[in-house]
Amino acid sequence: MRCPYCGSDQTRVVDTRPTSDGIRRRRKCLACGRKFTTVERVAPQLRVIKRDGRREPFDRQKLLRGLQVACTKRPIQAEALEKISEQIEDELVSRGKAEVSSQTIGNMALEKLKKLDHVAYIRFTTVYLNISDLKSIQEEINRLLNSVEQG
Ligand SMILES: [Zn+2]
Repeated sequence: MRCPYCGSDQTRVVDTRPTSDGIRRRRKCLACGRKFTTVERVAPQLRVIKRDGRREPFDRQKLLRGLQVACTKRPIQAEALEKISEQIEDELVSRGKAEVSSQTIGNMALEKLKKLDHVAYIRFTTVYLNISDLKSIQEEINRLLNSVEQG
């Protein structure tokens, strides 16, 4: 933590108190002797807005289970799915929003699955996007085939 007045990194915490949105620290610069305040914000728990409008806490394990189901009997390393779920969580947290729709998460997972395994991608599509009729699945497969052919 650098002093905002002289830029020295020799500072000392002289007081710490929790506030409604984080932790407030009073610091003293050991170089110039001035005092300043920093606030460390606690990241809010990320919540997922489900299709029916209800909210629930984001659960990476749940996302991972969904990926695992989609990848059943596919030649995919368990670590690859762990990595995908971690990447998605990182991306969501770095957006800094408190809420995210389940559809957004589903689309992020689909983007990553698409590069990994096309069968798993289609399976995940049918589960996550709630596609249940054969025609919609066919359309999704066609879209996938087109995008593969294009590059
Ligand atoms: Zn200073």
